[in-house]
Amino acid sequence: MSTTNFSANAAHFDYIIVGAGSAGCVLANRLTASGRHRVLLLEAGGRDSNIWIHIPLGYGKLFDNPKVNWLYKTEPEPELNNRRVIQPRGKVLGGSSSINGLLYIRGQHEDYDHWRQLGNAGWAFKDVLPYFMTAETQQRGADELHGVGGPLAVSDVSEPHPLCEAFIEAAVQAGYPRNDDFNGPKQEGAGYFQLTTKNGRRWSTAVGYLRPARKRPNLTVISDALATRVLFSGRRAVGVEYRQGNTTHTAYADGEVILSGGAFNSPQLLQLSGVGPAQLLRDHGIEVIADMPGVGHDLQDHLQIRMQYRCTEPITMNDVINDWRHRYAEGLRYLVSRKGLLTIGAGYAAAFIRTRPELATPDVQVHFLIFSADAAGATLHPFSGFMASVCQLRPESRGFVHIKSADPAVPPAIQPRYFTAQLDRDTIVAGLKALRGIMNQKVMRQYIAEELQPGEACVSDEDFLAFSRATATTVYHPTSTCRMGSDPNAVVDERLRVHGFERLRVVDASIMPTVASGNTNAAAVMIGEKGSDMILQDAAASAPMAMSA
Ligand SMILES: Cc1cc2nc3c(=O)[nH]c(=O)nc-3n(C[C@H](O)[C@H](O)[C@H](O)COP(=O)(O)OP(=O)(O)OC[C@H]3O[C@@H](n4cnc5c(N)ncnc54)[C@H](O)[C@@H]3O)c2cc1C
Repeated sequence: MSTTNFSANAAHFDYIIVGAGSAGCVLANRLTASGRHRVLLLEAGGRDSNIWIHIPLGYGKLFDNPKVNWLYKTEPEPELNNRRVIQPRGKVLGGSSSINGLLYIRGQHEDYDHWRQLGNAGWAFKDVLPYFMTAETQQRGADELHGVGGPLAVSDVSEPHPLCEAFIEAAVQAGYPRNDDFNGPKQEGAGYFQLTTKNGRRWSTAVGYLRPARKRPNLTVISDALATRVLFSGRRAVGVEYRQGNTTHTAYADGEVILSGGAFNSPQLLQLSGVGPAQLLRDHGIEVIADMPGVGHDLQDHLQIRMQYRCTEPITMNDVINDWRHRYAEGLRYLVSRKGLLTIGAGYAAAFIRTRPELATPDVQVHFLIFSADAAGATLHPFSGFMASVCQLRPESRGFVHIKSADPAVPPAIQPRYFTAQLDRDTIVAGLKALRGIMNQKVMRQYIAEELQPGEACVSDEDFLAFSRATATTVYHPTSTCRMGSDPNAVVDERLRVHGFERLRVVDASIMPTVASGNTNAAAVMIGEKGSDMILQDAAASAPMAMSA
Protein backbone atom coordinates (compact mmCIF):
# COMPACT_ATOMS: atom_id res chain seq x y z
CA MET A 1 0.00 0.00 0.00
CA SER A 2 1.34 3.41 -0.81
CA THR A 3 1.13 6.05 1.86
CA THR A 4 1.66 9.64 1.02
CA ASN A 5 3.67 12.12 3.02
CA PHE A 6 1.28 14.94 3.73
CA SER A 7 2.52 18.49 3.49
CA ALA A 8 1.17 20.81 6.17
CA ASN A 9 1.38 23.75 3.74
CA ALA A 10 -0.73 22.29 0.96
CA ALA A 11 -4.26 23.60 0.49
CA HIS A 12 -7.07 21.80 2.30
CA PHE A 13 -10.65 21.57 1.13
CA ASP A 14 -13.68 19.55 2.08
CA TYR A 15 -14.29 18.32 -1.46
CA ILE A 16 -12.04 18.17 -4.49
CA ILE A 17 -13.81 17.73 -7.82
CA VAL A 18 -11.67 16.66 -10.78
CA GLY A 19 -13.17 17.95 -14.03
CA ALA A 20 -15.46 20.93 -14.65
CA GLY A 21 -17.65 19.19 -17.21
CA SER A 22 -21.34 18.40 -17.46
CA ALA A 23 -21.39 16.68 -14.06
CA GLY A 24 -18.46 18.50 -12.40
CA CYS A 25 -20.02 21.97 -12.71
CA VAL A 26 -23.27 20.66 -11.21
CA LEU A 27 -21.32 19.34 -8.22
CA ALA A 28 -19.40 22.59 -7.83
CA ASN A 29 -22.65 24.52 -7.63
CA ARG A 30 -24.62 22.19 -5.39
CA LEU A 31 -21.80 21.39 -2.93
CA THR A 32 -21.05 25.08 -2.35
CA ALA A 33 -24.67 26.29 -2.13
CA SER A 34 -24.99 26.06 1.66
CA GLY A 35 -21.71 27.89 2.21
CA ARG A 36 -20.65 25.19 4.67
CA HIS A 37 -18.21 23.26 2.49
CA ARG A 38 -14.94 24.38 0.90
CA VAL A 39 -14.72 23.01 -2.61
CA LEU A 40 -11.87 22.88 -5.09
CA LEU A 41 -12.78 22.36 -8.76
CA LEU A 42 -9.85 21.35 -10.98
CA GLU A 43 -10.16 21.62 -14.76
CA ALA A 44 -7.50 20.57 -17.27
CA GLY A 45 -8.79 23.03 -19.87
CA GLY A 46 -9.16 26.80 -19.76
CA ARG A 47 -11.98 29.35 -19.54
CA ASP A 48 -14.92 29.11 -21.93
CA SER A 49 -14.11 32.42 -23.61
CA ASN A 50 -14.14 31.19 -27.22
CA ILE A 51 -17.13 32.93 -28.86
CA TRP A 52 -17.99 29.83 -30.90
CA ILE A 53 -18.76 27.95 -27.69
CA HIS A 54 -21.70 30.24 -27.02
CA ILE A 55 -23.23 30.47 -30.51
CA PRO A 56 -24.93 27.10 -31.06
CA LEU A 57 -23.87 26.66 -34.69
CA GLY A 58 -20.27 27.34 -33.60
CA TYR A 59 -20.30 23.71 -32.44
CA GLY A 60 -18.86 22.81 -35.86
CA LYS A 61 -15.82 25.00 -35.19
CA LEU A 62 -14.81 23.23 -31.99
CA PHE A 63 -14.02 19.80 -33.42
CA ASP A 64 -10.37 20.46 -34.18
CA ASN A 65 -9.50 23.13 -31.63
CA PRO A 66 -6.98 21.75 -29.10
CA LYS A 67 -7.66 24.70 -26.77
CA VAL A 68 -11.13 23.32 -25.97
CA ASN A 69 -11.01 19.70 -27.11
CA TRP A 70 -8.91 16.69 -26.07
CA LEU A 71 -9.03 15.52 -29.72
CA TYR A 72 -8.92 11.84 -28.85
CA LYS A 73 -9.11 9.06 -31.41
CA THR A 74 -9.89 5.41 -30.97
CA GLU A 75 -7.37 2.71 -31.68
CA PRO A 76 -7.87 1.10 -35.12
CA GLU A 77 -11.31 -0.53 -34.98
CA PRO A 78 -11.18 -4.06 -36.42
CA GLU A 79 -14.87 -4.17 -37.44
CA LEU A 80 -14.66 -0.73 -39.07
CA ASN A 81 -11.96 -1.59 -41.60
CA ASN A 82 -9.32 -0.72 -38.99
CA ARG A 83 -10.24 2.95 -39.11
CA ARG A 84 -9.51 5.21 -36.15
CA VAL A 85 -12.66 7.08 -35.14
CA ILE A 86 -12.50 10.62 -33.77
CA GLN A 87 -13.46 11.04 -30.12
CA PRO A 88 -13.81 14.73 -29.29
CA ARG A 89 -14.19 15.62 -25.60
CA GLY A 90 -14.49 19.04 -24.04
CA LYS A 91 -11.33 20.35 -22.37
CA VAL A 92 -12.62 23.66 -21.06
CA LEU A 93 -14.92 24.91 -18.32
CA GLY A 94 -18.21 23.14 -19.02
CA GLY A 95 -16.35 20.13 -20.46
CA SER A 96 -18.24 18.42 -23.25
CA SER A 97 -21.35 20.51 -22.47
CA SER A 98 -19.36 23.44 -23.89
CA ILE A 99 -18.60 21.74 -27.21
CA ASN A 100 -21.50 19.32 -27.66
CA GLY A 101 -24.34 19.38 -30.17
CA LEU A 102 -26.80 20.90 -27.64
CA LEU A 103 -29.52 18.27 -28.17
CA TYR A 104 -31.61 17.65 -25.06
CA ILE A 105 -32.68 14.02 -24.80
CA ARG A 106 -32.94 12.23 -21.46
CA GLY A 107 -33.18 8.67 -22.72
CA GLN A 108 -36.05 6.27 -22.14
CA HIS A 109 -37.82 5.73 -18.82
CA GLU A 110 -37.02 2.05 -19.32
CA ASP A 111 -33.25 2.77 -19.36
CA TYR A 112 -33.37 3.82 -15.74
CA ASP A 113 -35.79 1.07 -14.71
CA HIS A 114 -33.21 -1.29 -16.26
CA TRP A 115 -30.42 0.28 -14.19
CA ARG A 116 -32.56 -0.40 -11.12
CA GLN A 117 -33.27 -3.91 -12.31
CA LEU A 118 -29.51 -4.51 -12.49
CA GLY A 119 -29.44 -3.95 -8.72
CA ASN A 120 -28.84 -0.21 -8.46
CA ALA A 121 -31.29 0.95 -5.82
CA GLY A 122 -32.37 4.57 -6.24
CA TRP A 123 -31.85 4.73 -10.02
CA ALA A 124 -35.27 3.72 -11.39
CA PHE A 125 -36.98 6.32 -13.59
CA LYS A 126 -39.21 7.45 -10.73
CA ASP A 127 -36.05 8.02 -8.65
CA VAL A 128 -34.08 9.99 -11.25
CA LEU A 129 -36.98 12.03 -12.63
CA PRO A 130 -36.88 14.57 -9.76
CA TYR A 131 -33.22 15.26 -10.60
CA PHE A 132 -33.95 15.79 -14.31
CA MET A 133 -36.70 18.19 -13.23
CA THR A 134 -34.62 20.02 -10.61
CA ALA A 135 -31.95 20.62 -13.22
CA GLU A 136 -34.28 21.99 -15.86
CA THR A 137 -35.83 25.25 -16.89
CA GLN A 138 -38.15 24.03 -19.59
CA GLN A 139 -39.24 26.77 -22.00
CA ARG A 140 -42.67 25.14 -22.34
CA GLY A 141 -43.29 25.34 -18.60
CA ALA A 142 -43.62 22.76 -15.85
CA ASP A 143 -45.72 19.61 -15.86
CA GLU A 144 -45.45 16.18 -14.29
CA LEU A 145 -42.30 15.37 -16.32
CA HIS A 146 -40.68 18.80 -16.73
CA GLY A 147 -39.31 21.43 -14.40
CA VAL A 148 -38.77 25.17 -14.33
CA GLY A 149 -36.42 27.19 -12.18
CA GLY A 150 -33.41 24.88 -12.62
CA PRO A 151 -29.99 25.94 -13.92
CA LEU A 152 -30.20 24.07 -17.27
CA ALA A 153 -32.18 25.98 -19.90
CA VAL A 154 -34.05 23.79 -22.39
CA SER A 155 -35.63 25.46 -25.42
CA ASP A 156 -37.48 24.67 -28.61
CA VAL A 157 -35.82 25.28 -31.96
CA SER A 158 -36.26 28.92 -32.91
CA GLU A 159 -38.35 28.20 -36.01
CA PRO A 160 -39.53 25.28 -38.14
CA HIS A 161 -37.80 24.39 -41.41
CA PRO A 162 -39.48 23.03 -44.58
CA LEU A 163 -37.08 20.08 -44.81
CA CYS A 164 -37.77 19.11 -41.20
CA GLU A 165 -41.51 19.45 -41.76
CA ALA A 166 -41.19 17.11 -44.74
CA PHE A 167 -39.04 14.64 -42.79
CA ILE A 168 -41.50 14.50 -39.88
CA GLU A 169 -44.46 14.10 -42.23
CA ALA A 170 -42.58 11.40 -44.17
CA ALA A 171 -41.93 9.50 -40.92
CA VAL A 172 -45.65 9.68 -40.14
CA GLN A 173 -46.49 8.44 -43.65
CA ALA A 174 -44.03 5.59 -43.11
CA GLY A 175 -46.02 4.53 -40.05
CA TYR A 176 -44.24 6.21 -37.11
CA PRO A 177 -46.12 8.50 -34.71
CA ARG A 178 -45.50 12.22 -34.52
CA ASN A 179 -43.87 13.13 -31.21
CA ASP A 180 -43.56 16.71 -29.98
CA ASP A 181 -41.75 15.77 -26.78
CA PHE A 182 -39.09 13.06 -26.84
CA ASN A 183 -38.70 13.61 -23.09
CA GLY A 184 -42.39 13.10 -22.48
CA PRO A 185 -44.31 9.92 -21.65
CA LYS A 186 -42.97 8.08 -24.74
CA GLN A 187 -39.84 8.60 -26.79
CA GLU A 188 -41.06 6.91 -29.98
CA GLY A 189 -41.85 8.97 -33.07
CA ALA A 190 -40.66 11.92 -35.15
CA GLY A 191 -40.47 15.60 -34.27
CA TYR A 192 -38.18 18.52 -33.53
CA PHE A 193 -35.32 18.34 -31.04
CA GLN A 194 -35.17 20.60 -28.01
CA LEU A 195 -31.84 22.24 -27.24
CA THR A 196 -29.86 23.28 -24.15
CA THR A 197 -30.01 26.94 -25.17
CA LYS A 198 -31.53 30.15 -23.86
CA ASN A 199 -32.29 33.11 -26.12
CA GLY A 200 -30.26 31.50 -28.88
CA ARG A 201 -27.14 30.95 -26.75
CA ARG A 202 -25.58 27.68 -25.54
CA TRP A 203 -26.49 26.75 -21.98
CA SER A 204 -23.53 24.64 -20.89
CA THR A 205 -23.14 23.62 -17.26
CA ALA A 206 -20.36 26.22 -17.01
CA VAL A 207 -22.93 28.87 -17.90
CA GLY A 208 -25.90 27.45 -16.02
CA TYR A 209 -24.27 26.04 -12.89
CA LEU A 210 -20.70 27.30 -12.51
CA ARG A 211 -21.14 30.97 -13.39
CA PRO A 212 -23.67 31.69 -10.60
CA ALA A 213 -21.52 29.79 -8.07
CA ARG A 214 -18.20 31.41 -8.90
CA LYS A 215 -18.66 34.37 -6.60
CA ARG A 216 -19.09 32.10 -3.58
CA PRO A 217 -16.05 32.42 -1.31
CA ASN A 218 -16.09 28.67 -0.54
CA LEU A 219 -15.52 27.68 -4.21
CA THR A 220 -12.02 27.65 -5.69
CA VAL A 221 -11.81 26.96 -9.42
CA ILE A 222 -8.40 26.21 -10.90
CA SER A 223 -8.34 25.85 -14.67
CA ASP A 224 -5.43 24.65 -16.84
CA ALA A 225 -4.81 22.17 -14.02
CA LEU A 226 -4.35 18.52 -14.98
CA ALA A 227 -5.03 16.13 -12.10
CA THR A 228 -2.28 13.53 -12.30
CA ARG A 229 -2.91 11.30 -9.31
CA VAL A 230 -5.35 10.63 -6.50
CA LEU A 231 -3.51 10.43 -3.19
CA PHE A 232 -4.40 7.67 -0.76
CA SER A 233 -3.83 6.81 2.83
CA GLY A 234 -4.40 3.08 2.65
CA ARG A 235 -7.81 2.77 1.02
CA ARG A 236 -8.91 6.30 1.85
CA ALA A 237 -8.64 9.07 -0.75
CA VAL A 238 -7.05 12.09 0.89
CA GLY A 239 -6.15 14.43 -1.93
CA VAL A 240 -5.11 15.04 -5.50
CA GLU A 241 -1.86 15.88 -7.18
CA TYR A 242 -2.21 18.20 -10.16
CA ARG A 243 -0.01 19.89 -12.68
CA GLN A 244 -0.17 23.48 -13.87
CA GLY A 245 2.45 24.15 -16.50
CA ASN A 246 5.60 22.52 -15.19
CA THR A 247 4.66 22.80 -11.54
CA THR A 248 3.12 20.00 -9.52
CA HIS A 249 0.76 20.96 -6.69
CA THR A 250 -1.01 19.00 -4.01
CA ALA A 251 -4.46 19.64 -2.58
CA TYR A 252 -6.05 17.71 0.26
CA ALA A 253 -9.66 16.76 0.75
CA ASP A 254 -10.85 16.42 4.33
CA GLY A 255 -14.16 15.19 2.97
CA GLU A 256 -14.06 13.45 -0.42
CA VAL A 257 -12.30 13.29 -3.76
CA ILE A 258 -14.83 13.21 -6.60
CA LEU A 259 -13.80 12.21 -10.11
CA SER A 260 -15.83 13.90 -12.87
CA GLY A 261 -13.32 13.67 -15.71
CA GLY A 262 -15.70 11.86 -18.07
CA ALA A 263 -15.76 8.39 -19.59
CA PHE A 264 -12.17 8.46 -20.85
CA ASN A 265 -10.37 10.47 -18.19
CA SER A 266 -11.94 9.21 -14.98
CA PRO A 267 -10.79 5.61 -15.57
CA GLN A 268 -7.44 6.93 -16.83
CA LEU A 269 -6.90 8.86 -13.58
CA LEU A 270 -7.89 5.87 -11.46
CA GLN A 271 -5.45 3.67 -13.37
CA LEU A 272 -2.67 6.27 -13.04
CA SER A 273 -3.40 6.30 -9.30
CA GLY A 274 -2.99 2.53 -8.91
CA VAL A 275 -6.66 1.52 -9.13
CA GLY A 276 -7.40 -0.70 -12.10
CA PRO A 277 -6.45 -3.98 -13.81
CA ALA A 278 -3.32 -5.06 -11.89
CA GLN A 279 -1.36 -6.35 -14.87
CA LEU A 280 -2.00 -3.20 -16.90
CA LEU A 281 -0.75 -1.05 -14.02
CA ARG A 282 2.34 -3.21 -13.49
CA ASP A 283 3.11 -3.07 -17.22
CA HIS A 284 3.46 0.68 -16.79
CA GLY A 285 5.37 0.54 -13.50
CA ILE A 286 2.47 1.79 -11.39
CA GLU A 287 2.14 0.49 -7.86
CA VAL A 288 -1.13 -1.42 -7.52
CA ILE A 289 -3.34 -0.11 -4.75
CA ALA A 290 -6.36 -2.15 -5.79
CA ASP A 291 -6.71 -4.71 -8.56
CA MET A 292 -9.99 -3.63 -10.15
CA PRO A 293 -10.37 -5.19 -13.59
CA GLY A 294 -13.55 -3.18 -14.27
CA VAL A 295 -11.83 0.23 -14.25
CA GLY A 296 -11.85 1.30 -17.91
CA HIS A 297 -13.90 -1.67 -19.05
CA ASP A 298 -17.44 -1.93 -20.45
CA LEU A 299 -16.91 1.15 -22.66
CA GLN A 300 -20.09 1.72 -24.66
CA ASP A 301 -20.71 4.32 -27.33
CA HIS A 302 -23.33 5.22 -29.90
CA LEU A 303 -22.17 4.66 -33.45
CA GLN A 304 -23.82 6.61 -36.27
CA ILE A 305 -23.98 6.14 -40.01
CA ARG A 306 -24.97 9.08 -42.19
CA MET A 307 -27.02 9.04 -45.37
CA GLN A 308 -26.49 12.12 -47.54
CA TYR A 309 -28.76 13.75 -50.11
CA ARG A 310 -28.48 16.37 -52.79
CA CYS A 311 -31.49 18.68 -52.37
CA THR A 312 -33.71 19.87 -55.20
CA GLU A 313 -34.13 23.33 -53.68
CA PRO A 314 -31.68 25.94 -52.34
CA ILE A 315 -33.16 25.84 -48.83
CA THR A 316 -30.36 24.03 -46.98
CA MET A 317 -27.72 25.46 -44.69
CA ASN A 318 -25.16 24.77 -47.41
CA ASP A 319 -26.90 27.43 -49.51
CA VAL A 320 -26.60 29.99 -46.72
CA ILE A 321 -23.06 29.24 -45.61
CA ASN A 322 -21.70 29.10 -49.16
CA ASP A 323 -23.02 32.53 -50.14
CA TRP A 324 -21.54 35.52 -48.29
CA ARG A 325 -24.70 37.64 -48.68
CA HIS A 326 -26.88 34.98 -47.08
CA ARG A 327 -24.23 34.42 -44.44
CA TYR A 328 -24.17 38.04 -43.39
CA ALA A 329 -27.97 38.26 -43.48
CA GLU A 330 -28.18 35.24 -41.14
CA GLY A 331 -25.56 36.78 -38.85
CA LEU A 332 -27.57 39.97 -38.66
CA ARG A 333 -30.82 38.09 -38.06
CA TYR A 334 -29.15 36.25 -35.18
CA LEU A 335 -27.89 39.47 -33.62
CA VAL A 336 -31.26 41.15 -33.88
CA SER A 337 -33.71 38.32 -33.18
CA ARG A 338 -31.65 35.37 -31.85
CA LYS A 339 -33.34 33.21 -34.46
CA GLY A 340 -32.22 31.34 -37.54
CA LEU A 341 -29.44 29.02 -38.53
CA LEU A 342 -26.94 30.18 -35.93
CA THR A 343 -29.23 28.82 -33.21
CA ILE A 344 -29.32 25.22 -34.39
CA GLY A 345 -27.49 22.30 -32.84
CA ALA A 346 -26.18 18.98 -34.10
CA GLY A 347 -29.65 17.96 -35.23
CA TYR A 348 -32.86 19.74 -36.11
CA ALA A 349 -35.45 16.99 -36.22
CA ALA A 350 -35.29 13.40 -35.01
CA ALA A 351 -37.04 10.07 -35.19
CA PHE A 352 -36.91 7.34 -32.57
CA ILE A 353 -38.00 4.10 -34.16
CA ARG A 354 -38.27 0.39 -33.47
CA THR A 355 -36.55 -1.71 -36.12
CA ARG A 356 -38.53 -4.77 -35.03
CA PRO A 357 -42.23 -4.67 -34.05
CA GLU A 358 -41.66 -6.98 -31.09
CA LEU A 359 -39.44 -4.41 -29.33
CA ALA A 360 -41.00 -2.51 -26.44
CA THR A 361 -39.22 0.79 -27.15
CA PRO A 362 -37.17 2.38 -29.96
CA ASP A 363 -33.75 0.88 -30.67
CA VAL A 364 -32.67 3.44 -33.27
CA GLN A 365 -32.39 7.23 -33.27
CA VAL A 366 -32.33 9.24 -36.50
CA HIS A 367 -30.71 12.68 -36.41
CA PHE A 368 -31.95 14.85 -39.28
CA LEU A 369 -29.71 17.74 -40.36
CA ILE A 370 -30.37 20.48 -42.90
CA PHE A 371 -26.79 20.53 -44.19
CA SER A 372 -24.35 18.05 -45.71
CA ALA A 373 -20.61 17.59 -45.29
CA ASP A 374 -18.15 14.73 -45.51
CA ALA A 375 -17.33 14.72 -41.80
CA ALA A 376 -18.20 16.45 -38.53
CA GLY A 377 -16.86 19.99 -38.56
CA ALA A 378 -15.84 19.73 -42.24
CA THR A 379 -16.62 22.33 -44.92
CA LEU A 380 -20.18 22.05 -46.15
CA HIS A 381 -20.77 20.69 -49.65
CA PRO A 382 -20.82 23.37 -52.39
CA PHE A 383 -24.35 22.36 -53.41
CA SER A 384 -27.75 22.13 -51.69
CA GLY A 385 -27.63 19.10 -49.42
CA PHE A 386 -28.90 17.50 -46.24
CA MET A 387 -28.19 14.40 -44.15
CA ALA A 388 -29.80 11.97 -41.75
CA SER A 389 -27.93 9.55 -39.53
CA VAL A 390 -28.89 6.29 -37.91
CA CYS A 391 -27.65 5.43 -34.43
CA GLN A 392 -28.29 2.28 -32.45
CA LEU A 393 -29.49 3.17 -28.99
CA ARG A 394 -28.54 0.10 -26.94
CA PRO A 395 -25.34 -1.40 -28.35
CA GLU A 396 -24.10 -4.73 -27.04
CA SER A 397 -20.47 -4.19 -28.10
CA ARG A 398 -18.19 -3.47 -25.16
CA GLY A 399 -14.75 -1.89 -25.29
CA PHE A 400 -12.16 -0.43 -22.94
CA VAL A 401 -9.95 2.51 -21.95
CA HIS A 402 -6.40 1.57 -20.96
CA ILE A 403 -3.50 3.82 -20.05
CA LYS A 404 -0.65 3.62 -22.54
CA SER A 405 1.87 5.21 -20.21
CA ALA A 406 2.37 6.23 -16.59
CA ASP A 407 2.67 9.78 -17.93
CA PRO A 408 -0.71 11.49 -17.32
CA ALA A 409 -0.21 13.67 -20.40
CA VAL A 410 -0.23 10.64 -22.73
CA PRO A 411 -3.77 9.89 -24.00
CA PRO A 412 -5.12 6.47 -23.06
CA ALA A 413 -5.89 3.76 -25.58
CA ILE A 414 -9.59 4.02 -26.43
CA GLN A 415 -11.06 0.91 -28.03
CA PRO A 416 -14.88 0.84 -28.23
CA ARG A 417 -14.82 -2.40 -30.26
CA TYR A 418 -17.72 -1.09 -32.33
CA PHE A 419 -19.77 -3.66 -34.22
CA THR A 420 -18.25 -6.65 -32.41
CA ALA A 421 -21.77 -7.74 -31.44
CA GLN A 422 -24.01 -9.22 -34.13
CA LEU A 423 -27.05 -7.35 -32.77
CA ASP A 424 -25.30 -4.02 -33.35
CA ARG A 425 -24.58 -4.78 -37.00
CA ASP A 426 -28.10 -6.09 -37.60
CA THR A 427 -29.74 -3.09 -35.93
CA ILE A 428 -27.76 -0.54 -37.92
CA VAL A 429 -28.60 -2.29 -41.19
CA ALA A 430 -32.28 -2.43 -40.24
CA GLY A 431 -32.16 1.23 -39.17
CA LEU A 432 -30.63 2.36 -42.46
CA LYS A 433 -33.29 0.48 -44.40
CA ALA A 434 -36.01 2.05 -42.24
CA LEU A 435 -34.51 5.49 -42.85
CA ARG A 436 -34.54 4.91 -46.58
CA GLY A 437 -38.20 3.92 -46.20
CA ILE A 438 -38.90 7.32 -44.64
CA MET A 439 -36.93 9.16 -47.32
CA ASN A 440 -38.85 7.35 -50.04
CA GLN A 441 -42.16 8.85 -48.94
CA LYS A 442 -43.55 11.25 -51.52
CA VAL A 443 -43.40 14.30 -49.25
CA MET A 444 -39.65 13.80 -48.80
CA ARG A 445 -38.86 12.63 -52.34
CA GLN A 446 -39.78 16.06 -53.69
CA TYR A 447 -36.63 17.39 -52.00
CA ILE A 448 -34.26 14.59 -53.06
CA ALA A 449 -32.36 15.15 -56.29
CA GLU A 450 -30.04 12.23 -55.50
CA GLU A 451 -29.09 9.96 -52.62
CA LEU A 452 -25.36 10.65 -52.50
CA GLN A 453 -24.44 8.25 -49.73
CA PRO A 454 -24.74 5.29 -49.78
CA GLY A 455 -26.44 5.74 -53.19
CA GLU A 456 -29.17 3.78 -54.96
CA ALA A 457 -26.78 0.92 -55.77
CA CYS A 458 -26.72 0.06 -52.07
CA VAL A 459 -29.58 -2.40 -51.69
CA SER A 460 -28.71 -5.61 -49.86
CA ASP A 461 -27.96 -6.05 -46.16
CA GLU A 462 -24.34 -6.76 -47.14
CA ASP A 463 -24.19 -3.45 -49.05
CA PHE A 464 -25.52 -1.51 -46.07
CA LEU A 465 -23.13 -3.26 -43.71
CA ALA A 466 -20.13 -2.59 -45.95
CA PHE A 467 -21.17 1.07 -46.19
CA SER A 468 -21.44 1.22 -42.40
CA ARG A 469 -18.03 -0.33 -41.82
CA ALA A 470 -16.51 2.18 -44.23
CA THR A 471 -18.16 5.34 -42.90
CA ALA A 472 -19.48 4.84 -39.34
CA THR A 473 -18.44 7.36 -36.75
CA THR A 474 -19.32 8.19 -33.15
CA VAL A 475 -22.29 10.23 -31.88
CA TYR A 476 -19.96 11.15 -28.98
CA HIS A 477 -21.66 9.21 -26.18
CA PRO A 478 -18.96 7.11 -24.46
CA THR A 479 -20.09 5.80 -21.07
CA SER A 480 -19.81 3.01 -18.50
CA THR A 481 -16.03 2.80 -17.96
CA CYS A 482 -16.50 3.17 -14.17
CA ARG A 483 -19.75 1.29 -14.24
CA MET A 484 -22.14 1.35 -11.27
CA GLY A 485 -23.15 -2.06 -9.94
CA SER A 486 -22.43 -4.78 -7.42
CA ASP A 487 -20.83 -7.45 -9.64
CA PRO A 488 -17.05 -8.08 -9.57
CA ASN A 489 -16.40 -5.75 -12.55
CA ALA A 490 -18.46 -2.84 -11.22
CA VAL A 491 -16.40 0.17 -10.14
CA VAL A 492 -18.83 2.21 -8.04
CA ASP A 493 -21.78 1.29 -5.86
CA GLU A 494 -25.25 2.80 -6.13
CA ARG A 495 -24.07 5.83 -4.13
CA LEU A 496 -21.23 6.26 -6.65
CA ARG A 497 -18.54 5.32 -4.08
CA VAL A 498 -15.61 3.43 -5.54
CA HIS A 499 -15.86 -0.14 -4.25
CA GLY A 500 -13.37 -0.90 -1.51
CA PHE A 501 -12.39 2.74 -0.94
CA GLU A 502 -13.38 5.48 1.45
CA ARG A 503 -14.06 9.07 0.44
CA LEU A 504 -13.68 8.45 -3.27
CA ARG A 505 -16.53 8.74 -5.78
CA VAL A 506 -16.95 8.91 -9.51
CA VAL A 507 -19.75 11.20 -10.67
CA ASP A 508 -20.00 11.53 -14.45
CA ALA A 509 -21.11 9.65 -17.58
CA SER A 510 -18.66 6.83 -16.84
CA ILE A 511 -20.89 5.43 -14.09
CA MET A 512 -23.85 4.63 -16.38
CA PRO A 513 -24.51 0.87 -16.12
CA THR A 514 -25.67 1.00 -19.75
CA VAL A 515 -25.61 3.94 -22.12
CA ALA A 516 -28.88 5.90 -22.02
CA SER A 517 -31.03 5.56 -25.14
CA GLY A 518 -30.41 9.03 -26.52
CA ASN A 519 -27.93 11.88 -26.24
CA THR A 520 -26.08 11.68 -22.95
CA ASN A 521 -25.62 15.22 -21.63
CA ALA A 522 -28.98 15.37 -19.85
CA ALA A 523 -28.18 12.08 -18.09
CA ALA A 524 -24.70 13.34 -17.08
CA VAL A 525 -26.28 16.45 -15.55
CA MET A 526 -28.84 14.28 -13.75
CA ILE A 527 -25.97 12.13 -12.40
CA GLY A 528 -24.28 15.34 -11.17
CA GLU A 529 -27.50 16.41 -9.43
CA LYS A 530 -28.11 13.02 -7.82
CA GLY A 531 -24.43 12.59 -6.94
CA SER A 532 -24.41 16.00 -5.19
CA ASP A 533 -27.49 15.07 -3.21
CA MET A 534 -25.96 11.77 -2.06
CA ILE A 535 -22.69 13.44 -1.08
CA LEU A 536 -24.50 16.07 0.99
CA GLN A 537 -26.75 13.44 2.58
CA ASP A 538 -23.75 11.31 3.51
CA ALA A 539 -21.93 14.33 4.93
CA ALA A 540 -24.94 15.18 7.08
CA ALA A 541 -25.29 11.57 8.21
CA SER A 542 -21.62 11.18 9.08
CA ALA A 543 -21.52 14.32 11.24
CA PRO A 544 -19.46 15.09 13.29
CA MET A 545 -17.12 14.69 10.26
CA ALA A 546 -15.26 17.97 10.58
CA MET A 547 -16.65 20.06 7.76
CA SER A 548 -15.51 23.62 7.95
CA ALA A 549 -17.92 26.30 9.05
C1 LIG B 1 -18.74 16.75 -30.01
C2 LIG B 1 -19.76 16.27 -29.02
C3 LIG B 1 -21.12 16.38 -29.32
C4 LIG B 1 -22.07 15.92 -28.41
N1 LIG B 1 -23.38 16.18 -28.64
C5 LIG B 1 -24.29 15.95 -27.66
C6 LIG B 1 -25.63 16.42 -27.78
O1 LIG B 1 -26.00 17.06 -28.76
N2 LIG B 1 -26.50 16.15 -26.77
C7 LIG B 1 -26.12 15.44 -25.66
O2 LIG B 1 -26.97 15.19 -24.80
N3 LIG B 1 -24.85 14.98 -25.53
C8 LIG B 1 -23.93 15.26 -26.47
N4 LIG B 1 -22.63 14.88 -26.30
C9 LIG B 1 -22.30 14.06 -25.13
C10 LIG B 1 -22.32 14.82 -23.80
O3 LIG B 1 -21.88 16.14 -23.97
C11 LIG B 1 -21.46 14.05 -22.80
O4 LIG B 1 -22.02 12.76 -22.60
C12 LIG B 1 -21.39 14.74 -21.43
O5 LIG B 1 -20.98 16.07 -21.57
C13 LIG B 1 -20.42 13.98 -20.52
O6 LIG B 1 -20.34 14.64 -19.29
P1 LIG B 1 -19.21 14.26 -18.24
O7 LIG B 1 -19.45 15.12 -17.06
O8 LIG B 1 -19.19 12.80 -18.07
O9 LIG B 1 -17.81 14.62 -18.94
P2 LIG B 1 -17.31 15.95 -19.61
O10 LIG B 1 -18.42 16.93 -19.80
O11 LIG B 1 -16.54 15.56 -20.81
O12 LIG B 1 -16.35 16.60 -18.51
C14 LIG B 1 -15.11 16.10 -18.12
C15 LIG B 1 -14.25 17.29 -17.72
O13 LIG B 1 -13.16 16.83 -16.96
C16 LIG B 1 -11.98 17.48 -17.41
N5 LIG B 1 -10.87 16.59 -17.09
C17 LIG B 1 -10.66 15.34 -17.57
N6 LIG B 1 -9.55 14.80 -17.03
C18 LIG B 1 -9.06 15.72 -16.18
C19 LIG B 1 -7.93 15.75 -15.32
N7 LIG B 1 -7.09 14.70 -15.22
N8 LIG B 1 -7.71 16.87 -14.59
C20 LIG B 1 -8.55 17.92 -14.66
N9 LIG B 1 -9.63 17.94 -15.47
C21 LIG B 1 -9.89 16.86 -16.20
C22 LIG B 1 -12.22 17.65 -18.89
O14 LIG B 1 -11.36 18.60 -19.46
C23 LIG B 1 -13.68 18.02 -18.93
O15 LIG B 1 -13.87 19.41 -18.76
C24 LIG B 1 -21.65 15.31 -27.18
C25 LIG B 1 -20.30 15.21 -26.88
C26 LIG B 1 -19.35 15.70 -27.77
C27 LIG B 1 -17.90 15.60 -27.41
